[in-house]
Amino acid sequence: MTTRVTIWNEFLHEVENDEVRSIYPEGMHETLAAAFKEHGGFETKTATLREPEHGLTEEVLENTDVLLWWGHKAHHEVDDEVAARVQRHVLNGMGMVTLHSGHYSKPFTRVMGTYGSLVWREADEKERLWNLRPDHPIMDGIPDYIELEKEEMYGERFDIPTPDELLMISWFQGGEVFRSACTWQRGLGRVVYFRPGHETYPTYHNPLIQRIIVQAADWAKARVRRDAAGSPNQTSFEPVPNPTKEHIL
Ligand code: ZN
Repeated sequence: MTTRVTIWNEFLHEVENDEVRSIYPEGMHETLAAAFKEHGGFETKTATLREPEHGLTEEVLENTDVLLWWGHKAHHEVDDEVAARVQRHVLNGMGMVTLHSGHYSKPFTRVMGTYGSLVWREADEKERLWNLRPDHPIMDGIPDYIELEKEEMYGERFDIPTPDELLMISWFQGGEVFRSACTWQRGLGRVVYFRPGHETYPTYHNPLIQRIIVQAADWAKARVRRDAAGSPNQTSFEPVPNPTKEHIL
């Protein structure tokens, strides 16, 4: 069965900045969409900030098995109602893969319940991502480490809840380390955070980075979709002493 992936990108840097546009002429969402198409097994859709409802209508999310999110400079422009809608869909089973500066996005921080803060530096430095879980489906075919010649530094402390699974730790040339690939279960949904992908570097053209993102989407995709919000009063299956007892608030 094909997995329906929706790739959400803020899509402002590529429009406003020549350097970024030269790396991602159609936007990084299209670069990632091409990687999913090349892999096969996915039905790929894209959505961006400037579309009505940021392209994430109720109908789009209902028909999304896993949502990718890249945002950076305009987190505050994401409508609270849309962020709440994404959170509800995650709790009801939709998968979410948050990329790079999405650590500060409204959907990610709502779903995590923490600030998502960290330290950062733009200094064209080397990043080495260490693979801690070669047994994990998201790390399938990934070597013991990946090197990116130039990336933005993200360092600890990263304000996230302790991950259910920690798949990669990054080392940076300047000395910091960072939890770069993390997973969580939230309600019925699976959430992944994956660090690399600063807009001024060609990181999303890297085949190993693409492979991790595709495998993260495949792992996080919805297994079940169900409105899990209600807590109904339930009639007993077997006789009980006082079936009509009122709940006193
Ligand atoms: Zn960045």
